[in-house]
This record gives sequence, structure tokens and C-alpha cells, in this order.
Amino acid sequence: MSRIICWDQYGKNGCKTLAIVLGLFYFGIYRSEGIVSIHAVQTGGQDRVTKRQSWDNWAGNLHSSPIEIFRPTTEDEIVALVQQAANRGLRIKAFGAKHSFSGIAISDDYILDLTSYDQIVEVDSVNGYVTVQSGKKLSHLSEELFTYGFAMEDMGDIAYQSIAGAISTGTHGTGATFGCIPTQVHSMRIITADGSVLNCSKDENQDIFHSARVSLGALGILSTITLKCETAFNLHAVEKPIALDEVMTNLDDFVDSNEHFEFFWQPNMQNAFTKQNNRTTRPEEPLTDWENFKNDVLIGDFIANNLVKVDRIAPPLSRFIRRNLPVTYREDYVDRSYRVFTSERKVKFVEMEYFIPRAAAKDAMERYRTFLQQTGIVPSMSIEMRFTAADDIPLSMSTDRETCSFAIHLRTHERYQQYFEGFETLMREFDGRPHWGKMHFQTKDTLMHLYPQWEQFQVVRKKLDPDGRFTNAYLNRVLGQIE
Ligand SMILES: Cc1cc2nc3c(=O)[nH]c(=O)nc-3n(C[C@H](O)[C@H](O)[C@H](O)COP(=O)(O)OP(=O)(O)OC[C@H]3O[C@@H](n4cnc5c(N)ncnc54)[C@H](O)[C@@H]3O)c2cc1C
Repeated sequence: MSRIICWDQYGKNGCKTLAIVLGLFYFGIYRSEGIVSIHAVQTGGQDRVTKRQSWDNWAGNLHSSPIEIFRPTTEDEIVALVQQAANRGLRIKAFGAKHSFSGIAISDDYILDLTSYDQIVEVDSVNGYVTVQSGKKLSHLSEELFTYGFAMEDMGDIAYQSIAGAISTGTHGTGATFGCIPTQVHSMRIITADGSVLNCSKDENQDIFHSARVSLGALGILSTITLKCETAFNLHAVEKPIALDEVMTNLDDFVDSNEHFEFFWQPNMQNAFTKQNNRTTRPEEPLTDWENFKNDVLIGDFIANNLVKVDRIAPPLSRFIRRNLPVTYREDYVDRSYRVFTSERKVKFVEMEYFIPRAAAKDAMERYRTFLQQTGIVPSMSIEMRFTAADDIPLSMSTDRETCSFAIHLRTHERYQQYFEGFETLMREFDGRPHWGKMHFQTKDTLMHLYPQWEQFQVVRKKLDPDGRFTNAYLNRVLGQIE
């Protein structure tokens, strides 16, 4: 039928054109999802045809097809690329390790891959100030810091992130007297929208420094970052199962009597897996490679995160694991701080994490358990609870209040909508603030009242990036358009 219409109305040439267009689509020369699309780029009035590149985040839940991905190795190259983007009227974003679950690092225009901009630039061994290029991975940084006799005072669960990525989203570890990683920043160099380079610290460009420690990548490209480090230290780690009810009843004791306390809990299990880490002068008595693999990958990642599947396939095996796993998993060791703070993650997942007042932690856990009962949701992956000190950084999730962070996870390709939306509704009742680098559904209108210094950040954003060179769809959603 369609062929007849085609012949009748447009004749032979019309059909040929249609066939060519369909052919182009069929062979994937143009795909709107954008894996190998060809797009015309506006360059000073003339169209230049460019093959788009492909960009995916670690979790595999996000994809973009930027015009170009550059891998600069010097500050001058970054400046030139920012200026080039400005001249072409394009947007530009940097990424560190693509470990964010939100669209915070995405760009359809220019992307800077800073993985080769990763050298330690200067070590002030008297004061513990270490200056590092922004693409440096925390794993490499922490090992090298140790050779200089220094360490980061606290770290998150992993060390795959870049230093700039970690501070830009307010990445945190755990410890009621320890702030998020951005609180360890002493000073920075920032490349702004017109390509100028600014130094900022508590003494220089103070307003910029204040906001830029948790910038969401919205203020410019961070060039170098100077951290205030602690003298290298070992941690005594005690990892053991404790009944969740006992943990929640004595939560303040656990949190206050340990420098770094956190726990994971797999719903349906009686016990939580607790981690209690404290500084020690004892020499290293590390776990063996096998023990590390068994704990982080086999038990922590693989078995714990597949229990729901085992529930379905082999209930007796699942009951056996649930009964025995919490009893056998018990470790007591001493190792370098960064080896204790961070672990490997092999299973790909997506995550939502909310920051609520510490005082609301018990209430929130009870409400969460009720929420699971009422909805019948049985999450395949565990929750994680951690604690952070208050700080004064405008967009830090711990700004102005002592914080408990409550994270939920699902494997990458599981349906997350109902679980994550329900959890978010619950967390919002506690004035929860979402992790900027993790999944959430909030917008500027629902977020701005949660941050007492929201306007201060917006003033700096407008000053440094008046044309929105560093913005993207995610930033427009959570921060609004630049007015
Ligand atoms: C397995 C896993 C475990 C995690 N564990 C934790 C945890 O324990 N605690 C926690 O708080 N978070 C955690 N996260 C979240 C993660 O720490 C953050 O999303 C972090 O921002 C990722 O760092 P990245 O280097 O990959 O940054 P990216 O995701 O690449 O980028 C994040 C943001 O930083 C910006 N950016 C990067 N480099 C620059 C630069 N040079 N200048 C300006 N902007 C820049 C990007 O544009 C983007 O806005 C985890 C994530 C994963 C996948």
C-alpha cells in the first residue's frame, strides 16, 4: 500500500530518496541514540561534519555522544580548549573517572578527559600541603602520598575517582568528626569560562574558594588542587557482623567511640556488617590478597549482592548463606589508611544516597524498614549508613549540620524507579539532600531551600560562567539556568 502511494504521489525519484534515507538509518550512519552519529557542527557560519564520539559512565546507566573528547596533559592545553569551546559557542565539561551515577559530567559538545593530567606538582613537607593535577586518581594519589609520609585524613569506599571529581560532588567517607573530602582542600587553580586562570584559597578569591570546593563542575575546570594532608597513618580495622537492632539501639556509641564507623545491611538479614576503623601506631598486619578478594569481591560484592537471586533459585542454599555468612565474616587487621578505607567494586550497580540530620538516623531506618514491608520491595543489594561532620561549604551535602548518609543500591539493569522514588520521598521527609553524583529526581525548586548558602553559590556561578559554558542538562535541572 505504501509503495503504491509512493509511486502515485512522488514517482520513482521519491522512492529512491526514501530508500537511501532508510538505508542510512539502517546501516547506523545516523543513530539518534548517538553511538556513531554524524552531526553538522556550526563553525563560524560553516558546517563541518564531525563523527561523534561515545561516552559511558562506570555504572553503564548513562551515555552521551560528544562532538569531541580531548585528553590534555597541561594547563595551557586545557585553557586553549576552553577558549576554543567559547569561540565555537560550545559547552565543555571535564570528567575524572566517570564514577558518577547522575548526569553531572555529561556533555554533548566538548569533553575533557583529564586522566593524563595527573601529576603531583609540589609537596610542602613541613606543612603537609600537596598540590596535584586535577585528574589524579585517588588510588595513585594515596599510594604516592604515603611515599612522602602523608595521607588523606578520610576517604570514601573506593579510590577509583579523580581528586577533582571527588571534590566536585562532595564525595565523603565516614567519621563523625571528619568532613567530606572537599574539606581537605587548601587551595585551587580554576580555569574559568573566558580561559583565565584563578588561584583561590581562604586568603585569595575567598568567595570563589568557598563555593568551588563543591562546585558540581559548574564553575570552571579545576586545574590543580592543593590538599592539606595528615601524616601517614595506619588504621586498625575491625569488621564484624552485629545484629541490626543492636547497632541501631547503640548507634551513637558506635559512631562516637570510633573514628570511622559505618555499616552495610542486606534487608532480610538479621545482622549488619559493621566497620570500625581507628588510627593506630601498630605496624601493618594486613589481610592477605586472598582475604581481601574474599571479603571485598566474593562476599561483599558477589555473594551479598546475589542473595535475592539465590532466594528464588535455591531457597535452602540462601537460608544456609544467610545463617552462616554473617558468622564467618569477621576481620581484625592493621593496614595503611587508604587500603582500609577503600575497597574494590566489581559488581556494577546504581545508587541513590541521601544526607539527613544525624539525629534522624534511627527514625529514618525504622521508616525505611516499614517502607519495604508496605511495598513488598526486596532490594537485591544492601544499604549503607555513614556519618560526616558538619561543614560550611555552600553546596556540600553536610553544610551546616552533622550528617548521616543513607545509601541504597541496585544492580545496573534492575528496575529502580519504584524503589528509588519511594526512598527519595521518605528521605525528603527528613530534609534529605541527595548526593550530587548519585541518582535522584530533584530539581532546583525542591533543592534550593535545603542549602542556606544557595544564593552565594549562584552569585559565584554567574560571575565565573555567565554564558553557561560549563552547564549541562543535569546542572540546569538542579541549579537552574544561569539568570
Ligand atoms: C563504585 C562507586 C563507589 C562510590 N563510593 C562513594 C563513596 O564512598 N562516597 C561518595 O561520596 N561517593 C561515592 N561514589 C560517587 C563518586 O565518588 C562521585 O560521583 C565522584 O564525583 C566520582 O568521581 P569521578 O572522578 O569519577 O568524577 P566524574 O564522575 O568523572 O565527574 C564528577 C563531576 O566532577 C566534575 N569534574 C571532574 N573533573 C573536573 C575538573 N578537573 N574540573 C571541574 N570539574 C571536574 C565533572 O564535570 C562532574 O561534574 C561512588 C561511586 C561509585 C561508582
